[in-house]
Amino acid sequence: MQQKGGDELGGELEYGNRDRRGHYRPNKKVGYPPVFIWPAQPIKALKWIFSIPGYFLPWNLFYVLVGLISWFFISPPLEAYAQLEIQTILIVLLRNSGLVLLYFGGFHYRLYIKRAQRSEFKFHPKWPSESSKLFLFHNQNLDNIFLTFASGVTIWSGFEIGILWLAANEYISVINAQQNLIYFVVMVLLVHLWRDLHFYLIHRLIHFEPFYSIAHRIHHKNVNPGPWSGLAMHPIEHLFYFSCALLYIIFPFHPAFVIVALVHAGLSPAPGHSGFERIKIAEDKTFDSEAHAHYLHHKYFECNYADGILPLDRWFGTFHDGSDEAKKSLENRLKPKRA
Ligand SMILES: [Zn+2]
Ligand SMILES: [Zn+2]
Repeated sequence: MQQKGGDELGGELEYGNRDRRGHYRPNKKVGYPPVFIWPAQPIKALKWIFSIPGYFLPWNLFYVLVGLISWFFISPPLEAYAQLEIQTILIVLLRNSGLVLLYFGGFHYRLYIKRAQRSEFKFHPKWPSESSKLFLFHNQNLDNIFLTFASGVTIWSGFEIGILWLAANEYISVINAQQNLIYFVVMVLLVHLWRDLHFYLIHRLIHFEPFYSIAHRIHHKNVNPGPWSGLAMHPIEHLFYFSCALLYIIFPFHPAFVIVALVHAGLSPAPGHSGFERIKIAEDKTFDSEAHAHYLHHKYFECNYADGILPLDRWFGTFHDGSDEAKKSLENRLKPKRA
């Protein structure tokens, strides 16, 4: 791999190396931001929140903005959800499909169709399979795309329509965003944190039987993930996954909370499953896709169930930072299970 890629893969050698089988291993180990640590380091934590990468930038604020734009500019008015007509359902489905097509399709086009950076920074040495009986149509990408739209976008839209139907029919009372501006902003900005916790909880749950065999194994067919792997899940997993939106029913409610949470859940898996540690935007400019932790989950299964800023895997002994030591400790942890 290295001889072939002397120039081709030159950039990645600054950031990592490849093992004998051609798998890319970043030098930078998976870590957590200095927020949930003891003894607490408030200055460091505060600095991290506002730095790049940090809590808001580059990813989180982007999803918040897309969610807000989706609600305020690309949604039917709340009243339209009261008596559901086909038009309302179609607008929601089309908007969510469009977002997915643009975002997942954008990553896929650049990295896998155009192959703009060839294999540079790609974790797995192979490209997604186009001839495996494991996948629908014998094609990993087509299988993933089918699950993403047929099940993922449909269930995402179903949660959105169902919750807004409750609000439009006044089963849930809706606050005025301008009169409750601070509460509104805080709730929207906390979406990321809530989603981290929710994802960890449902992800742990679906690794137990019978959920794993029935549902989650479908997502794990992607041992060599690409952007379209992100929402490639069994409908049961989609139901768990998008249920993050339900939290907002119990708090003073605004439709934007649900839309932002669902947009966050719907779009964030694309970079997280990109399959590349870094994404090149110019010859000498790259940025971290933050896919390493979750790539290790797809590679080794029983580690890194969380994927974000809460150090839950560290607290519960399932953390893998990508090092040989972490691999060894994972093997030791699984030995009694396999014996
Ligand atoms: Zn995944
Ligand atoms: Zn999993």
